[in-house]
Amino acid sequence: MANLNRLLLYPLDPYHSVDPIPLLELLHQRQFVEAPLPIEYGEQSYQVGDRFFDAFLFLGCSPNIELTPSTDDPQQPFCYLQLESRVTPQLLMGKNLKAACPQCKQRFSAEQKQTVDEQGAISIHCKNCGSIQPVQQIAWRKTAAYGKTGLSLWNIYEGEAVPSDQLLTLLQQQSGVQWRYSYIAG
Ligand SMILES: [Zn+2]
Repeated sequence: MANLNRLLLYPLDPYHSVDPIPLLELLHQRQFVEAPLPIEYGEQSYQVGDRFFDAFLFLGCSPNIELTPSTDDPQQPFCYLQLESRVTPQLLMGKNLKAACPQCKQRFSAEQKQTVDEQGAISIHCKNCGSIQPVQQIAWRKTAAYGKTGLSLWNIYEGEAVPSDQLLTLLQQQSGVQWRYSYIAG
């Protein structure tokens, strides 16, 4: 399955744990998600619901977006949602990464060395100046995401869509923390 590009929503506080069950219930209730997808799309993956366009705003003129799996071509990319939750925070960097070392300004790559300490705090090691930078110190410019919980809208290119205020408010109210988003290119 060619899962390459996504819009990824995640809590502002990377160490905050969000209970995925009530969150999923709410997304169902609001008709942002519908039927679960087969396991080859990953765990907790769902087809988008009838009110999906209340949750995400597509930019650009008349977008030609596939919202269901193609019966003719199973490889045809389409938009679907996936909720992921982990015990420890994880940093995801895409090929589109636009971040630099705060110390020496050297551009980071998606293969940048990262470490996680016993508290789960993630740091990035700069190959150029050798400094170790906590993830919160880095300006990621919406091209990386970190945390324990992530809500992905798959098969979205950078800047193709944005979450609506309605969705961001809903996520905040349900989880008690603010959310933000990034674009991760595979
Ligand atoms: Zn550096």
